[in-house]
Parts: sequence; structure tokens; C-alpha cells
Amino acid sequence: MIVVAKIGTSSVTDDDGWIDEGAIEGFVAGLAGLRAAGHDVVAVTSGAVAAGLPVLGLVGDRRPRDAQTLQAASAVGQGRLMGVYDRAFAAHGVISGQVLLAPLDFGVRSQYLHARGTLRRLLELGVVPVINENDAIADDEIRFGDNDRLAGLVAHLLDAGLLVLLTDTAGILTADPRLDPSASLIEEIVQVDHALEALAGGAGTARGSGGMASKVAAAKMAAWSGVRTVIASSSRPGVLADAVAGVPGVGTVVLPREAKLPARKLWIGFAVPAAGTVRVDDGARRALLERNVSLLPAGVVAVDGSFEADAAVEVAGPDGTVFAKGLVRVGASLLRTLAGRRTADLPEGTPHEVVHRDDLVVLP
Ligand code: GLU
Repeated sequence: MIVVAKIGTSSVTDDDGWIDEGAIEGFVAGLAGLRAAGHDVVAVTSGAVAAGLPVLGLVGDRRPRDAQTLQAASAVGQGRLMGVYDRAFAAHGVISGQVLLAPLDFGVRSQYLHARGTLRRLLELGVVPVINENDAIADDEIRFGDNDRLAGLVAHLLDAGLLVLLTDTAGILTADPRLDPSASLIEEIVQVDHALEALAGGAGTARGSGGMASKVAAAKMAAWSGVRTVIASSSRPGVLADAVAGVPGVGTVVLPREAKLPARKLWIGFAVPAAGTVRVDDGARRALLERNVSLLPAGVVAVDGSFEADAAVEVAGPDGTVFAKGLVRVGASLLRTLAGRRTADLPEGTPHEVVHRDDLVVLP
């Protein structure tokens, strides 16, 4: 099977950002072991930004906050990081290849298929792709910002059998261990729901950017893609082999959903960035949730954002909770004039559906 394994900044660099070669060698040894056991493996690594900072002397109170300096630092760090990966894989007789991805590579469907083609070819050639976000030039507004989401998208893109998110805790815990010493590991999650998302809370460490919230979000995407996720400690010996073998207690396992979404709906639901939000009334919300129908202008009560026809938007209920996502057939300004109007009252030539059911993904 294809295993996508992601490791975070705080696991591969020290407090100043210097690359922890031993940590990367350990990660790579685990990946090489999976390959030797017959699996295809893909690494997703963070650490480019952090690794660039000490080289530039930008540590301690000189640490920059502005996006441009951080992006510039990634250009310095990424090459160094990749050098360590290449050497570590070579020690196992394995060739690695760098792939840097940006959100648009997933948001434009032709580009998405192209990225998939390249990654598949690398695997056929026996190469281990080592993926990071293209931090140096990614548009700051639409950057992924965290590699958990990127890893989830890659697992979905490749139809992976397993996504492993390595972190500096044992997995998802019942509480924040810094606040509650009795916090214990949640070993299995059948379905990611709002309660779990609330438990996972906010962002992570000072140097990494993900935290548990982004891991839970990535696992949710993987679950809808039919991919099992294991969230586990990067420092646990044999963690990757145990995650593949399904050893109990290896970390938190998030089970895949039985009915996985078709590829195009997954792409709409998780890969395309939303350009706005369409708020609907309760009747429309229930119809969309229960009956696999299209969203009509009559059910729309408000439109946030400016977007053109064919853009992806989130669909929220009367209380603002987002429950679906879809591609709109009308742009935001036209939609504002159509909101609340019944089909019979629509001006001639305007589309009858705001979001056609084939372009709608309901994610309760
Ligand atoms: N892509 C960023 C880097 O390599 C890190 C993103 C993250 O923290 O997940 O530095």
C-alpha cells in the first residue's frame, strides 16, 4: 500500500532551528523499512522556514514575524533540509526526490491531476517523494500554512492506504497534558465530530504551526477519502512499522469512513479553497442534508465574499455553521440579487441552481 508520513518542524529542528539530522535519519530509517517490506512511501516534511533562520542569524529576538522574511528563510532552509533527506535515504540505497506543492496545485483540477501523475511516476521509478509546501513563493494569503493539511491532500491524491502524522505527543489526548496531568491517549476515533474538533483546540508549538487542530482536520479529510490516519509520536521507536501493522496504542487511529466520496466531490470538499460563504435558511439546510438536492436561490439568505461563477463556496446554515461546500453557478453579486427568489420569479437566462447537486458536497 501507499503510506504517506508527515513529520513536523519541532521534530526535525532544534529550538534555534538547526536541523536535527539524527531525527531525520530515524524518520528515514522507518520509511526505508516500510519500503523494504514492499510498501510505497511518501514523506511530507516541514522545517524549511525554521532551518533557514539560524543560517541567516535570525534567531532569538531577531526572529522575524513578517511573511516575506519567513518565506525567504524557507528558500535557505529547504535545500539544506533536502540535502539531509537525500543523504539519509542514500544510506539505505534509496533515491529521494523533492516535490514542492502549492495550494493552486490542488485547486486547479488539471494541475491536481498533473501533480498526481508526477508523484505516481516517482513511485514507479522507486523514488521516495519528499514533499513540502513551496513556501518561498506561495501566496501568503492562500498558503496551506500547515503541512498536516498538505499531507492529508497528498494521501487523498494518491489514494493512500495510510496517513501517518508524526508529532511530539503520543497522539490525540483527552486533554492538554500541560494543563491536565491525567490526560490520556485516545486510541481510536470512529468519526471526527465537532466535539473532537473542539477538544483538539488551537495551534501548536512556537516553531511548528499545525497543532492538534490541523491534525484532526487532516485526519477528517483522509477519513472521507477512505484513508486511515495514525497520529503518533515521532520519537516512538518503530512508530511507522507499528502504524502500518496496526499495533494497538501506537497512537490515535482515525478510521476511514465506509462510504468514501467520489474523487471529484473530494476535490471540491477538501482541495479547492473556498472563495466565500452562502448562508441558507433552515428549510434549504434540511433539504441539502437529507435529500441530495441542488441549492436553489429561494433558500439563500445571505452571501459573504466576492466570487465568480464556478468558484467554490462554503454553505452555512442559519446559525453560521458550515455543513457543505460546492461550486456555484452564479457569481456573488448576481446571487445577492437572486437570494430568496423562487424559481418561477427568476429573471430569464439566470441559472436555476446556485449549486447543482453534482457539484455539492455535504460534510455534516
Ligand atoms: N512548510 C513549512 C516549513 O517547511 C511548515 C509548515 C508547518 O509547520 O506545518 O517550514
